[in-house]
Order: sequence, then C-alpha cells, then structure tokens
Amino acid sequence: MSKPARRLFLETALLPSGWAHDVALDIADGTITAVMPNAAPTACERLPGIALPGLPNLHSHTFQRAMTGRSETKGPTDDSFWTWRQIMYAFLQKLTPDDIESIAAYAMMEMLETGFTALAEFHYLHHAPDGRAYANPAETAERIAAAAAQTGIGLTLLPVLYTHGGFGSLPPSQAQARFLNDRNSFEDLLDATARAIAPLADAVLGQAPHSLRAVSPSDLAHLAARPGPTHIHIAEQTREVEDCLAWSGQRPAAWLLNHTPIDQRWTLIHATHTDPVELAAIARSGATIGLCPITEANLGDGIFNAPSFRDAGGLYGVGTDSNVEITAAGELRFLEYGQRLARRARNVMPATEGASTGRTLYDAALTGGAQSVGRRIGRLAPGHRADLVLLDPTHPDLATATGDRILDAYIFSAGAGAIDTVIVAGRTLVTAGRHHARDTITARYRKTLATLV
Ligand SMILES: [Zn+2]
Repeated sequence: MSKPARRLFLETALLPSGWAHDVALDIADGTITAVMPNAAPTACERLPGIALPGLPNLHSHTFQRAMTGRSETKGPTDDSFWTWRQIMYAFLQKLTPDDIESIAAYAMMEMLETGFTALAEFHYLHHAPDGRAYANPAETAERIAAAAAQTGIGLTLLPVLYTHGGFGSLPPSQAQARFLNDRNSFEDLLDATARAIAPLADAVLGQAPHSLRAVSPSDLAHLAARPGPTHIHIAEQTREVEDCLAWSGQRPAAWLLNHTPIDQRWTLIHATHTDPVELAAIARSGATIGLCPITEANLGDGIFNAPSFRDAGGLYGVGTDSNVEITAAGELRFLEYGQRLARRARNVMPATEGASTGRTLYDAALTGGAQSVGRRIGRLAPGHRADLVLLDPTHPDLATATGDRILDAYIFSAGAGAIDTVIVAGRTLVTAGRHHARDTITARYRKTLATLV
C-alpha cells in the first residue's frame, strides 16, 4: 500500500460506528484510505478538536448572498415570496459574470467557515442582462467553478432549465430573460459546463428543471431521462399549489410523482406544502427532500411537515437557498425550532426516546445531503472524501460535553463560533475559524457590492 499523503490524529471523531477517540485517519488523493481508532499518536499530524464529517449544503443560489438587507423593508402591499421575487429579479439584472464569481466566492467561503464542505449550486443565471446568450454558454457556470476552485468547496453544479413563466407553458417575462434556454441550448450548456468543472477534482454535474411552473411536461420528461443528480423546486408556496391544482387537478408533488420516474437521483427542494400521502410517496421513491429552513422563514413559505416525512422513512438534508444567512448549525436549529413553534412541543425530530436532537438532525443531513449532491461524502470512512469540520474542544459550550451532547451544544448554542478547522478533500481550508483566502475574497466582494449600490 502506498504511503498516505496525510495522516491525521484526531482526539475525538464522529465515525459511522459512533464517537471514537485517538483516531488516526489516512488520506491520499483527497480520499480517506484508513480510519484507526485507539491509535498511538506517533508519526501523525495532531489536530486538536472534535472531528465531524463536513455537512453538504444541498441547495443554494450564491448570487442572492449579495441581496442581504435589500428586501427587509415593508412594501405597499402585503409582502410575500412573490414581492421578494420582484426585488430579486431587479437585483440580478445588474450582475456581470465578474460579480457572479465574486459573490459566489464570498458565499462559498462563508459556507466553509460555518460548517459546510460541499455545495449543490442550483444555477439559473445563464445569460447577459438583456437576455442575450454569452458567446460561451457556460460563461457564468465557469464563474461558479472558479469560485469553487478558489475556495476549495466540493461542488455539484446544477445548470437549471427554465423555459416558461407559469403553469400551462405560460410565456416567460422579460425579467426572466437571463434564465431561459430551450432543450437544444440547454444541451450545449450542459456540455460546456462539464468542461468548466473538469479541472475541479471530484466535481459533479447534475441538472435542475427549475420548477413545475418553469418547465413543460415534455421538457421535464426529457431531463428525467438524463443521468446525474436532478433537483427541482416543488410546493414552496400555497399559490403554487393552487395554480397547479387549477392547471392539472393535482397538487405539485402528486403531479410530479405521477408523471416522472422520481428516484434516489432526485432532490425535491422545499416540499413545504405537501400532504402525508405525498410525503409517503416521496419517501418510497428514495428521493431526498431539501429543506432550507432559514430561507423558508425569511420568505414566509410555511413549515414542512417533518414528523410525517420522518415517520414515512424519508431522507432529508439542508440547504442555504437564498443565503440570507449562511450557517450549517443554524439551518438544523431552524429546522427543529420551526417544528417546535408549530407544534408547541420540544425535541420533535428524534423518533425514539433518549435520542439526541442534534445527533438526529446532523446524521440525517449527512445522509440525505450526500445522496442529494451525488458524491461520496458525509462519513469519516475509507473510500469517502476527507471532508472534516473540527470543533474547538476548549469552547465553553463544548469543554465539558461528551458524545451526542457535543452536537446538541454545537447546533443549539455554539454554532459556527465553535468551528476551528475545516478540511476538504484532505486540504486544510479554514484555520482558527478563518478561510485562508478570506482577506482577498472579502476585498473583492466589497468592491462588487460598491458597484451594485
Ligand atoms: Zn431555491
């Protein structure tokens, strides 16, 4: 066997078998090759801390990170997702490819600093502000890939097919011109995007029909026949449910399941307004539901029926979606808190007495997230990418915690403030809570923001 490129010695680590101590972990070519608990710390690189598998972020539109603070002023009518969307459409008209790269790098850096080590980017901003195609169909996809290369985050890139403005193949609006492709130009986009991500080790190309509003049934069937992770926004808003019922007589998730071979490759983003029959069918399909609790709260979407989906054995993970706030622990905390507020109950997500809520949420988001992004991650085990988040064992919230109480303290109290080191594919990217390129990325992001005012 060849010598590992890096052998780490971890005082405490969350392994698939549970909590372990004095773990020697070998890494070669970015992948874990051996995990040895109760090892001697000789000839090892000692890393103080509590090692967790890095969490996948299964849903993001990185450009929306720069909208922070721009949509929190009361408008003339009742504010909603739909009034927010108008603000978002106006905002994105100004973005150049350089802006897109700068914002993406800043968002990805924050993801790494706050506990996410992989990202599925749901990328729909393809064309110039006037809607004309760039000479290179992957002009903006290349910018997302460049940001991933600069920051080191593991990337699953999901070019989005967007063809229509509403159910029943309604024509798109001028505000949607930057998103639009037909089936042929989308094939060109996928080919060019595959070339754009080729230099990134272990990047994955998937695809995303934007929503049932934005693609026709025949386009959806066409995409469903392609390989790779496939993500779709579904049932985020009650108006979307009403429009789908008016169009088809069926609710969105029910229509999707009845007309598309949904399987483990699929991630259904939000699924907020789904009934128990739909949730049981999604669980049976093997698809993941992608929950984005902070964005769903910010947009006033509603609250997902998580206990029903859990009882059906469904897989779920978390995403940062609008990136209004980026925090891995925070997404899990909001997921549980939404359920508590809606049900006037505590510790809602664990299925069994004695189970830790933090551990339950973290394990679920690792498993669902890894399946969703289509990469071998989410476990500190041989054959998986060496993606680790190390918590500071001297943080006051963690100093006396052992076992699953560590995750309860991390998720419900300490949050990203407890993160010391982040390693992706065997490379240390974050030390003492700071990304190694923080100063460069932040300076560029400040300039970008100044041009957008
Ligand atoms: Zn989204």
